[in-house]
Amino acid sequence: MTLALESSCDDTAVAILEGQRTIRSSVISSQIDSHSPFGGVVPEFASRMHLEAVLPLLDRALLEAGISDPKRDIDLLAVTSGPGLMGSLLVGVMAMKGLAQGWGKPILGVNHLEGHIFANVVNHPDLDPPFLAMIVSGGHTEVVLVKELGDYRVIGETRDDAAGEAYDKVAKLLGLGYPGGPIIDKLALTGNERAFDFPVPLRSSEKVEFSFSGLKTSVLSQVEKLRKNGQPLPLEDLCASFQRAVAQSLVSKLHIAVSLTGVRKVAVSGGVGANSYLRKKLLTQTAWKAYLPDPFYCTDNGVMIAGAAYHGWNRGRRSDLELSPSPSWRITDGV
Ligand code: ATP
Ligand code: FE
Repeated sequence: MTLALESSCDDTAVAILEGQRTIRSSVISSQIDSHSPFGGVVPEFASRMHLEAVLPLLDRALLEAGISDPKRDIDLLAVTSGPGLMGSLLVGVMAMKGLAQGWGKPILGVNHLEGHIFANVVNHPDLDPPFLAMIVSGGHTEVVLVKELGDYRVIGETRDDAAGEAYDKVAKLLGLGYPGGPIIDKLALTGNERAFDFPVPLRSSEKVEFSFSGLKTSVLSQVEKLRKNGQPLPLEDLCASFQRAVAQSLVSKLHIAVSLTGVRKVAVSGGVGANSYLRKKLLTQTAWKAYLPDPFYCTDNGVMIAGAAYHGWNRGRRSDLELSPSPSWRITDGV
């Protein structure tokens, strides 16, 4: 069994996976309430809270999995070792190195983005490579050609903000709180997506590339105009129109990626993959078969790290007690 710890940003998550797919436990300690008054993640708080959360969470995961003798039952320890916040990664890596030494078990450092891809692999037994993985998260927006599990080529990414970051920034400027994605998703349900004609980013570019900072500025200009005229903000309409532009950009770039590669399987994950509007759009295209994890497994979790570690171990990846965090580890640097 694989015991995995994820602590790259603001969630501490632990999971125990039996083989490649059987989830024995998956627990999360979220820091959202502590960061939300600041409108984003405060790195110093994050590391301190990981430190407080990690040991109780490991105990809970073992208890829920019904494991009383981890030294006997756990075969592999996995930990996210990059990319992410240095302090947050450090807490996770040190904790798991301690366990590895204490229990005499192997440890494997996992790339967080490979983890996001594995959220789909764990959830979908029929998802075989080659496939296109689109990671749309708080810090990344990229399309990866998965030639084999472990063999990745980034074929396009964002020029500026990540999609999740755009959600968070737009929510902040609308005064909606953090994280913005789930709040905007909910408000948009009752809004008119055509109320505002926000520009679809890089619409005329034939490349697989994204940009979301201009879209955020368009929303800001619209909000300032409405405020200047003394009009109340039609929040639902603003959210729905913004969401439509984001989804159109993601979907249209995926169409380009599919025609460039000839690969017609598309696996989307990362926090924005939980977006109800985007999910609907992805699932109704005929150009591809869309794979999406349960919304819970779109955002950070331990299961995706355990899945990536289990597979990595079986294809020969190894780490040792010299493992240290790699805050800017790119998925193509070798995983
Ligand atoms: P990275 O994986 O790039 O390091 P991260 O781990 O912080 O970043 P995730 O946990 O994958 O990111 O996703 C968090 C992001 O997803 C936040 O920006 C959040 O607003 C967004 N998000 C979550 N749920 C939704 C939703 N329903 N609709 C849109 N965005 C969402
Ligand atoms: Fe993430």
